[in-house]
Amino acid sequence: MDENRKMYAQLGISEAVYNFGEERLASLRERFDAIDRVAEYNQSKVIAAMQKNRVNAGCFVGTTGYGYNDVGRDTLERVYADAFHTEAALVRPQITCGTHALAIALSANLLPGDELLSPVGRPYDTLEEVIGIRPSKCSLREYGVTYDEVALLPDGGIDYEGIRAKIKPQTKLVTIQRSKGYATRPTLSVAQIGELIAFVKSIRSDILCMVDNCYGEFVETIEPSDVGADMIVGSLIKNPGGGLAPIGGYICGTAACVERCAYRLSAPGLGQEVGANLGLMTSLYQGFFLAPTVTAGALKGAIFAANLYERLGFRCVPNATESRHDIIQAVELGSEAAMRAFCLGIQAAAPVDSYVTPLPWDMPGYDSQVIMAAGAFIQGSSIELSADGPIREPYAVYFQGGLTWYHAKLGILMSLQKLVDAGIVRL
Ligand SMILES: *Cc1c(COP(=O)(O)O)cnc(C)c1O
Repeated sequence: MDENRKMYAQLGISEAVYNFGEERLASLRERFDAIDRVAEYNQSKVIAAMQKNRVNAGCFVGTTGYGYNDVGRDTLERVYADAFHTEAALVRPQITCGTHALAIALSANLLPGDELLSPVGRPYDTLEEVIGIRPSKCSLREYGVTYDEVALLPDGGIDYEGIRAKIKPQTKLVTIQRSKGYATRPTLSVAQIGELIAFVKSIRSDILCMVDNCYGEFVETIEPSDVGADMIVGSLIKNPGGGLAPIGGYICGTAACVERCAYRLSAPGLGQEVGANLGLMTSLYQGFFLAPTVTAGALKGAIFAANLYERLGFRCVPNATESRHDIIQAVELGSEAAMRAFCLGIQAAAPVDSYVTPLPWDMPGYDSQVIMAAGAFIQGSSIELSADGPIREPYAVYFQGGLTWYHAKLGILMSLQKLVDAGIVRL
């Protein structure tokens, strides 16, 4: 369409970059159709859960104070539980982020003397302090919970014999991270997670299995809770918030596990009975309603980026043709200058703060500088189009999100445009 071509030109995308993008896109139609079918299924799954629980205008009423008999909050938790096929759910704006949700799930279900095992290698950075791998006040370790881990095999596979050897009488909970996060290991599929859970339970059926589901929700038609997880945990400013939730986290799982989480979040004896919804219910319901489509758009963006950048000779993880189990795309750009140009493009394509130039900075907790690009409506939201990465070998940017496929596409084309403008890429 000529109008599109003109509009992209107006936004600063050259004819050459636009054409290069269209060529790559032409080969992706089938994959995009498959993504749409998953989104269609998940959309129905969410609607069915809302209908079953008779969501109505009363659910959107704001509450304050203790929040006793908060119909909107209680119904939303039933909707999450039904959509993810669990007995119970804790979905609250009082859960401030994904790390907080994971910290609640772990500390509520591990007691002094218990051991936590990660069978898929080192968990996400922020969990190191929660667990006490890096010393921190109030870590699990400080409370007498020990930790052990089994690295993935060199090919990214699960080391079943290594796991068998590390399951001890005191092993109480196994934590499985679905997404690779900022590591270079492959993301696990739900089927792989199911096999791992079955293996753990075959050794000792009373071991609890928790899945860090961050960035994985709605990428497939099933979730880890469909394959035996006792708890799945995530952030509402990623996939399930659909870009509209301004804060929050969720824990879905067995009634026994979730009840303990609620007691840990509020106070023993109070549990899920307290916690006002503060008028956020419309965003949380509507965000969950949109989440399957939003996730689909982000996935299309990730696949488009891999196909564009791999063709230009940059290593992409996952690669252009691999199947997807989360929305994160890593692109190894090979130099600081290329990372800066890429991030400048993502920033320049944003609806918010598009005029800002992202620069590397000394972020606390990192041993090298970090560059980040994001022009988001919700601060720190990474279901919105964003890119970041540490300034060190292999100079990889981690790219994710896009509330719509069209915005993701513009962001990726703009990133390429900035690389061309900087003379780093020639088309
Ligand atoms: C984002 C993320 C977290 C932590 O989430 P925050 O909301 O940033 O605290 C944990 N695990 C994984 C795999 C993540 O991607």
